[in-house]
Amino acid sequence: MNTTSSSDFDIAIVGAGAAGLAAAIFAAETALETDLKIVLLEGARKPGAKILISGGGRCNVTHHRVEPADFHGKKNVVRNILKAFDEKQAIEWFRSLGVELKREETGKMFPVTDKARTVLDALLRRCDQLGVELYSQWRVESITPSESGWSLTGPSGEIQARRLIVSTGGKSLPKSGSDGHGWKMMKTLGHSVTDTWPALVPLLLQDGHGHENLSGISHPAQLTVNSDGKKIKSTTGEMLWTHLGISGPAPMDISRTWIRQAQLGHSPQLVLSFLPDEDTASVDRWLIDQGQRSPQRSVLHVLSSRVPRRVAEFIGSHASVDLSAPLAQFPRESRRRLSRELTCHLLVVTGDRGWKLAEVTAGGIPLDEVAYQTMQSRRCDGLYLAGEILDCEGRIGGFNFQWAWATGSIAGSCSAQSLLENRSQLGSRE
Ligand SMILES: Cc1cc2nc3c(=O)[nH]c(=O)nc-3n(C[C@H](O)[C@H](O)[C@H](O)COP(=O)(O)OP(=O)(O)OC[C@H]3O[C@@H](n4cnc5c(N)ncnc54)[C@H](O)[C@@H]3O)c2cc1C
Repeated sequence: MNTTSSSDFDIAIVGAGAAGLAAAIFAAETALETDLKIVLLEGARKPGAKILISGGGRCNVTHHRVEPADFHGKKNVVRNILKAFDEKQAIEWFRSLGVELKREETGKMFPVTDKARTVLDALLRRCDQLGVELYSQWRVESITPSESGWSLTGPSGEIQARRLIVSTGGKSLPKSGSDGHGWKMMKTLGHSVTDTWPALVPLLLQDGHGHENLSGISHPAQLTVNSDGKKIKSTTGEMLWTHLGISGPAPMDISRTWIRQAQLGHSPQLVLSFLPDEDTASVDRWLIDQGQRSPQRSVLHVLSSRVPRRVAEFIGSHASVDLSAPLAQFPRESRRRLSRELTCHLLVVTGDRGWKLAEVTAGGIPLDEVAYQTMQSRRCDGLYLAGEILDCEGRIGGFNFQWAWATGSIAGSCSAQSLLENRSQLGSRE
């Protein structure tokens, strides 16, 4: 830990997560062979906590194809930011840092070592090579404008900086150090913060739904949120049953929509199709066809060819049908109920697992409060914002890190560039 009473830096970056580390590296590279002093202030004991636990300890660094549609956020701003530092640049940048990435079937990109540690070590190594000072356990409690630019204070002392990059994250996984204090500090500087809520988070189901018996089973699913009779959003992907409810890519992706609808006072419904891209009529036709081909086969046998057996039993019990019956003797009404249950099973969601288990934050500082070309605040000159602190978050699959690398790289390069331009202007006047 570094205790600093008063120290001057050219650029201070608050928060050494993915966005802050990228910002530090890009600032230092832009200022290469100059004497600009850059400091990275991290409140936690160690930097990059989320990188280490991300992607199940493997770190899903980016996605092989990143589009604005993969994000919730102002589309034109998101598009421009992603264009300025896209997934190909991210892959190339990591290669230059010594981290080779591989693409998995889902399109997710991971380090070939399958270790998040490789990613974090490479970022820290580069910061070190470039002379970035990293102060851990240096929590910033308040930020005020000062004569030289910015004054940052916290229990460890005070730091003055000419340019400031704030990359303190959102509120997800607060024990990692991101507890929403960044937003409070930004409000004192005139920024606003939208409503915020947990996103990419497992959902809780009502007790007695029967999910407890399916815990640990996963299968493809289509999940749809309906609210006030309207379809709000639908997503398809793997779904994992847990003893408390549902998790995995599809539930996590849809969670922000269900939570937001509930937060707004609507009564959202979450509807599960066990057979994505089919509808009740096509499933009914399939069951009729199976009955004609194999009339003596039990319904359970046929159903188990499409969903895991325990899931088939769960669906049968919700449809109140006898799955042991041969297809030839399966009453039409039962068949229709079963087809409906297979495609429109109502999940009674009672809530979510909260910030502790949310992978990201929905909401934050509105994107129109920053200039996307530089990530500079439109409220305060010399202040830059990067990463999850902003009102933008991506779906599961490496998109959130891409956002952090992209915004961090722009904020880092542009903050350093602005200081170098200042210098050359002063120089040319002399
Ligand atoms: C379990 C989990 C798994 C994930 N897996 C993936 C994945 O595989 N792929 C993907 O794309 N995304 C993943 N994410 C999301 C991704 O980790 C985040 O979107 C990303 O880390 C955001 O980066 P950031 O730098 O903006 O914020 P953060 O990573 O939250 O970093 C902010 C940093 O600022 C520090 N800080 C906060 N306040 C202060 C202060 N006042 N003073 C000093 N320091 C402060 C914090 O300690 C923290 O180190 C995952 C998230 C979680 C929780």
